[in-house]
Amino acid sequence: MRHKILSGGAKELSYEIREIVKKADQLKDLGLTIYWENIGDPIQKNSEIPQWMKEIISGLVMDNKSYSYCPSKGNLETRHFLSKLNNARGGAQITADDILFFNGLGDAIAKVYQFIDPTLRVIGPSPAYSTHSSAEAAHANQVPITYKLDPNNHWYPDLDDLYNKVKYNPNIIGILIINPDNPTGMVYPYETLKRIVEIAREFKLMLISDEIYLNITYNGARAYSLAEVIEDLPGIAMKGISKELPWPGSRCGWMEYYNKDKDKEFTKFCAALDNAKMIEVCSTTLPQLAIPKIMGDPRFQPYRKELNERIGRRSKIIADILGEIPELMFNETFGAFYNTIIFREGVLRPDQKLKIDNPEVKKLVESWVEKEDVALDKRFVYYLLASTGICVVPISSFCSDLKGFRIT
Ligand code: PLP
Repeated sequence: MRHKILSGGAKELSYEIREIVKKADQLKDLGLTIYWENIGDPIQKNSEIPQWMKEIISGLVMDNKSYSYCPSKGNLETRHFLSKLNNARGGAQITADDILFFNGLGDAIAKVYQFIDPTLRVIGPSPAYSTHSSAEAAHANQVPITYKLDPNNHWYPDLDDLYNKVKYNPNIIGILIINPDNPTGMVYPYETLKRIVEIAREFKLMLISDEIYLNITYNGARAYSLAEVIEDLPGIAMKGISKELPWPGSRCGWMEYYNKDKDKEFTKFCAALDNAKMIEVCSTTLPQLAIPKIMGDPRFQPYRKELNERIGRRSKIIADILGEIPELMFNETFGAFYNTIIFREGVLRPDQKLKIDNPEVKKLVESWVEKEDVALDKRFVYYLLASTGICVVPISSFCSDLKGFRIT
């Protein structure tokens, strides 16, 4: 090649949720049964999409419209429907023009950081769903800038840490919130969100809120959307149907722009995102057509309520079991469907091994931990996988210095 073609930032891209699958598959080939606790795919975790939803979707498969391109920003009727849903919650009001569809929220995340000047930064939580931290850091060709979620305080954001990082880094132009949170299952309290909005106002920042789990809360919790707290500041909420319906295979997610016309720079940024989608033509039509039909169906809310109650019961059981183990730091979850378990200082040591009966499996795992420069929690995850077949994801791969793992 005439030039080095790889961008410097490419090294920041990592997604351990799927990397670990490569390791698990090697063990599966050696006869191990794998229990997939790594990925947040409700269908893989035995959540059946109900028959009535399947009938709506198969009806659309018979409709010529689902075979066609849709408008670049997304199907108009669906955007009307979603804007009404947002507006009914109160707070920042939007129209269909403030919504932009993507092929899954992962696609939206990959795109949102692309049009930010690479010298400017978006600060995000730590730990964080790594698609955000990776995509942002890769674009800036720098390591991620983060504010701490505090395991000693229900995983709530450390607001002093956030304030100081923003204050002393003039290149920060946005704050990312993931609410409810992946990987911690934390739901941002209303007062916390209001304080984050105040910080954004003081330093003239935009807000980005990943709300793919917005309606997955339980055991008395309620998640406040960005629209409900943002007032007149510029912001983007990111939503989708992978978890809520759940239909992760649909690859369908969208952005909602708040106060698009109130800040000139933000107006230009949203226009660039819209324009990029036009170049791409549009996102997948079929799931967009299904959204108003499914979410507008009277069976949808009772179905969701039942699903949330089920996740809530599971969360309580996990909390009862893990709360008893003094070596672990654990917070009961109130949203999404993940649990983050942290080892207390000194619990994990580099000489520890778990018992592995199969000699071939043992040899393979030892080769991984010897060859790779693995963090202590990743080493634990490898041993856990080889010893029990349970496949989880190390917390160090969620943009965090803590040592632990996430289960789904
Ligand atoms: N955002 C968060 C916080 C997620 O947990 C996920 C998937 O796990 C996504 C976005 C990506 O969702 P999608 O399946 O729509 O790409």
